[in-house]
Amino acid sequence: MTPLILVTNDDGVRAPGLASLAQALQALGQTVIVAPDQDNSAASHSLTMKRPLRVKELGRDRYSVDGTPTDCVTLALGRVLAKKPDLVVSGINPGPNLGDDVSYSGTVSAAVEGTMLGVPSLAISLAGEEPFCFATAAAFAVTLARTILDKGLPKDTLLNVNIPNRLREEIAGVRFTRQGRRVYDGAIKETFDPWGRRHYWIGGGTPFWDEGEDTDAQAILAGYVSITPLHLDLTNHAALSMLRQEWRLSLLP
Ligand code: MN
Repeated sequence: MTPLILVTNDDGVRAPGLASLAQALQALGQTVIVAPDQDNSAASHSLTMKRPLRVKELGRDRYSVDGTPTDCVTLALGRVLAKKPDLVVSGINPGPNLGDDVSYSGTVSAAVEGTMLGVPSLAISLAGEEPFCFATAAAFAVTLARTILDKGLPKDTLLNVNIPNRLREEIAGVRFTRQGRRVYDGAIKETFDPWGRRHYWIGGGTPFWDEGEDTDAQAILAGYVSITPLHLDLTNHAALSMLRQEWRLSLLP
């Protein structure tokens, strides 16, 4: 049976990273693109519930949705695809999704949604700056996709993959990592419009990472591909045991 692969992203259906990913994955099976009609970077896991959504057929196995990455995965699985896909692949995002940024990422959230709906899913991001070369990342996405189709993924787990924006021979290797912390310094910028009114921009600033040896950011800094298994269960199980043992709460004052 030919595998059915859903390809999506958060940068929009016309993004070059999506095209190169979908084209590369065709080596493994039938790929269907269902992606936002516009850039939805930093859309996180938002779902459009207060207006109707339109699906546009742009060509064979290529659809756009006037919504978020999560809308795309939801509609793809619920309406567009003839059967449940064997894999959801989101990307290739032009820019990293490391540490705390994972929470804001539309790229990762599409893979979260795929996982919630019971399909093995992965998110692929290119860590670096323009000019982006998607070929190496697309080729590695095929290797990973083939492995997941063969072995599956642990329950309720997706892979967040960051690949250095370098030539293949310049990449040091592949590391399995944990999600690190990524802290922004001076992330809020103040500007004034022509009428002198004050505005704020979020998103500038210089990020710095925690120095954890086995983190996603550390692997990228060292020139490695970073693969972080993310779990849908956000519960801190150690904290849960501690709270149950040590906190005695009552509704009574
Ligand atoms: Mn993006």
